[in-house]
Parts: sequence; structure tokens; C-alpha cells
Amino acid sequence: MATRKKTEPQLPSGPPAAAKEVAARLAVAIPAPRCELDHKDAWTLLIATILSAQSTDRTVNTVTPLLFEKYPTPAALAAAPREDVEAVVHRTGFFRNKAKAIQGASLAIAQQHDGAVPKDMAALMALPGVARKTANLVLGTAFRIASGVVVDTHVTRVAQRLGLSAAKTAEKIEQDLCQRLPQDQWIDGGHRLLLLGRYVCLAKGPKCEDCPLAELCPSRVGDPLGSWQQRAEHLQQAVQPGDAPGEG
Ligand code: SF4
Repeated sequence: MATRKKTEPQLPSGPPAAAKEVAARLAVAIPAPRCELDHKDAWTLLIATILSAQSTDRTVNTVTPLLFEKYPTPAALAAAPREDVEAVVHRTGFFRNKAKAIQGASLAIAQQHDGAVPKDMAALMALPGVARKTANLVLGTAFRIASGVVVDTHVTRVAQRLGLSAAKTAEKIEQDLCQRLPQDQWIDGGHRLLLLGRYVCLAKGPKCEDCPLAELCPSRVGDPLGSWQQRAEHLQQAVQPGDAPGEG
């Protein structure tokens, strides 16, 4: 059994953080959360999100400019030689599966949806390479449709540490978050949890001393610095466009 490092938080032993206060503090810290995957519309976001699996936003952002320059529409990407697409997306990892998925999704969009990304969960999830997380991200970010909460590795970790969910699966964690957060917080509130996990509540060595949620968190390690407002301001400065760290 692995030995837990001293700097890692224990599982929550106290009551869960109050979701309302969590959402309020994070809204101060990250007033306008933005998706750190570069995109210009729903289709480019969908493709970038498929490519981001087991990769980082930063790596995907180095690949997509050439990809969309060579293949600017769903039809163009769907018709491209597979090996050419694989070469472009190679650096994101799992390039064969990803090339197949983005071409399959693009073909379905071109042939079944008149070249436009569908705006409903069932149609999105019917596309190759698209699971609920990707569908939620596209619906929320591209269309501002609050279909659910995007649950990735960061949101999973933060939700568990805050005591907002004790579940192990993304599906159940999403249900817990949707119950605790009002629907008008599902998009931005969920995105803020993700960014907190990416910048502060790190998998190894969370920066609890800098966390604007420290007083609320049942998993906190050590004492926070200054007021929560000061920590929120610090986080706001860290979450700047173009500063996306690796996702680990
Ligand atoms: S970084 Fe914040 S949310 Fe994460 S464990 Fe520490 S206090 Fe809790």
C-alpha cells in the first residue's frame, strides 16, 4: 500500500464545504473562467477536447492551429487521409485512436448534422470519441447550455477533497455536484473547480496556504496565508490567458 506524503490532504474528516460559499468565493477568484483549449467555434472545441484526453491543453494548443489550417471544416477533416491526420495530432498521444475519433465525429457532423455541431446531449454522445464530459464541455462553453457539470480528473479531486462528493465515478460525482450547485452554476462553477484543481489544489502538494477555500475545506493541510480575499486575488492573477500549466 502506498505511503501518503505529509503534504497530501487526508480524506475529508469534517463536514463538507458549503457549496454556496465555495461557489461565491471562486466567483471572486475566477470571475470569468475561460476554456484553456484554444478554439473558435463549437466544432474546433469539440475536436480539441477529444485530442485533450490523456494530454494537456498546452500540447493540444500546439497542434490545433495546423490541424484547422489544413482542414478548416468538418467535411475537410473527414475526407483527409488518415495517416496525414495522425501525423498532425501525433504529439497529443494515442494518435491513431484520436485521428479516427476526430475524423469519425467530423464525418457524422458533416453528413448527419449539416456541418454544425448538434446542441443536445444525446446527439453529441452519439458522435465517435464523445463521452459525457466532452458533451458537457461543448454544450456549456460553446452554446452556454447547462446540461451538467464537466467532471475531469481535477474536478474529481477537488470535489472529493472539499467533501462535495464521496463518489468514485465521474457520473456519480456529476450528479452530486448538480445537486449541490444551482443550475446557473453548472457551467462556470464547474469550470472554476477545474481551474482551482489545475492551479492550486494540485494532485501532489496542494497549495492549501494559497487556497481561497482553505477555511471551508475539510481536507486542508496547514494554515492559510492572509484573508481569503487576498488568496482569491492571488489566484485571479495566476489564472491568466495563455498560462495554462500542464495537467499532470
Ligand atoms: S488546495 Fe484548497 S480545496 Fe484543495 S485540499 Fe487544500 S484547502 Fe482544500
